[in-house]
Amino acid sequence: MAYFRAVDPFPLESADQNKLHEFYEYLAADRLVTTCCGSCRRLAWPPRGFCPECLSDHFEWVDLPHEGTVHGFSIQETGLPAGFRAPVVFAIVTVGGLRIFGPVVGADPVALRVGDTVRFAPIRVADDSKGLARHLVAFAPGARPA
Ligand SMILES: [Zn+2]
Repeated sequence: MAYFRAVDPFPLESADQNKLHEFYEYLAADRLVTTCCGSCRRLAWPPRGFCPECLSDHFEWVDLPHEGTVHGFSIQETGLPAGFRAPVVFAIVTVGGLRIFGPVVGADPVALRVGDTVRFAPIRVADDSKGLARHLVAFAPGARPA
C-alpha cells in the first residue's frame, strides 16, 4: 500500500528529518522531556531548537513531571487519524507550568472534568514512510501508580 503522506497527521521523527528527533526517542522510552535554553534557562513547549526569548541555539533536554492537570478539553467524534476510535478526548494538560496538548486515552468523556489529574502515557502511532516507529505525547486518566 502506498504511503499517503498528505493526510499523515504525525510529525516526521527520524534523525534525518527532524533536528529534535531525540524528543521522540525519549517518548519511546516513556520519558516526557522538553528543551531548556542553555543561555536564559527558559523552558519551551513544544521543544525548540532555538530560544524565542534570547535566540540562543544552545539547549538541553530536561525531564518533566509525569502527572498533570486537565486545563481544558474537547471531544472528537469524527475525522480521527487512523488508529483512533471515537470518541477521543483531546486535552490541554498543565505539566510543570507548561500546557501540553494531547489525547487522554481511555478517558470517559462524560466523567472527565477540568482540574482532573492525568498521567503521561505515550502511545505508538502509525510507522513513518520508512517503517520506523513513531510515538505521540498522550495522557491517561488518573495519577501514576505508586
Ligand atoms: Zn534563551
